[in-house]
Amino acid sequence: MISDIINSNDLHKVNPVFGQLSFDEHEQVVFCNDKDTGLKAIIGIHNTILGPALGGTRMWSYKNEWEALNDALRLSRGMTFKAAITGLNLGGGKAVIIGDARTQKTPELMKKFGEFVHSLSGKYITAEDVGMETSDMDLIRTVTPYVTGMSESQGGAGNPSPITAYGVYMGMKAACKFQFGSDDMEDRKVLVQGIGHVGESLVEHLTDEGAQVIIDDINPERLYDVSKKYGATIYQGNSLYSEQVDVYAPCALGATINDDTVYNIKAKVIAGAANNQLANENIHGKILQERGITYAPDFLINAGGIINVYAELEGYGKQEIIRKTENIFNTTIEILENSKANNITSNESALNIARTRIADRKKENTK
Ligand code: NAD
Repeated sequence: MISDIINSNDLHKVNPVFGQLSFDEHEQVVFCNDKDTGLKAIIGIHNTILGPALGGTRMWSYKNEWEALNDALRLSRGMTFKAAITGLNLGGGKAVIIGDARTQKTPELMKKFGEFVHSLSGKYITAEDVGMETSDMDLIRTVTPYVTGMSESQGGAGNPSPITAYGVYMGMKAACKFQFGSDDMEDRKVLVQGIGHVGESLVEHLTDEGAQVIIDDINPERLYDVSKKYGATIYQGNSLYSEQVDVYAPCALGATINDDTVYNIKAKVIAGAANNQLANENIHGKILQERGITYAPDFLINAGGIINVYAELEGYGKQEIIRKTENIFNTTIEILENSKANNITSNESALNIARTRIADRKKENTK
């Protein structure tokens, strides 16, 4: 692939993995290939100081392999900090499968992917992400124990998305309290971008509390269904980010806060489920801070799902899952207060806490 884009004489100038912008001292990156099933996957293991690297598998039609690698690197890094800030004894990992989940996913491909996960002997534990279902985790479980998020009938904690949505809702309420002085969502205008597994459940919490919810998705059927079910308004304009709302909730894919959008955003709070919402966390996080927009760090408020699958590993029940997820409210307030006091972005504030926990554990481990 490299030879497709540069002259082979220049190959020595390229650092295709360790030189990627999104490479952040990852411990291991595994490229998985199987001709018979058509599997092409990348597993990123960012950091295992706190425990085995746990993170979902995403199946997506990437434009090219660089995009897939970049996603695996960015997502696995995010998982390290998500587990750390949530107080879980887990490291950060994530896998991507290159392909269209609707047309290219087969049981054989899932099982082959499971075999690659198994070959890592538990250093990486998989779960579901975009393009994957609980039933896929059940299939993977037939070839490896290093999988979570199986269906409840298989002894798993089931679909993590409702818990993720509940955590996002908690984080959003906390961010509103910080920004507007109240966490009451009644009549708050919220734009939910992406109404899939998490987005729909978030819409339910918000409409239950009386918020005015506007929904956007690339799938017209889902828009129709969710609008009908919860009375949410379908976004009709052509300038989504400029929409005059109180809260913007990115619940589709990452990097929607970027050079093209960051100055258009009218919302005063950003709180959503998507991973890696800031295209560049330093640049775009800073601009949001300067514009007086409260950004609830994604890896903090979308941790409900990982709390749910962690319960499967640790054997704790629903009540503890809910308690830990509700605590996202307090942690979000703490991080936002800390960012204000130290004049740093909310993302930096959250990263600092996560990094300190990892550094402390590293010290303990080397004693
Ligand atoms: P999903 O695939 O069920 O839903 C994503 C939705 O976004 C789909 O309805 C899709 O049509 C829509 N979408 C895609 N591109 C879009 C675009 N450009 N504009 C508008 N809508 C678009 O995924 P999910 O499980 O709901 O996850 C949503 C996000 O939250 C992802 O970024 C995922 O990584 C993150 N996340 C999910 C969980 C979880 O428990 N499922 C946990 C943590 C983070």
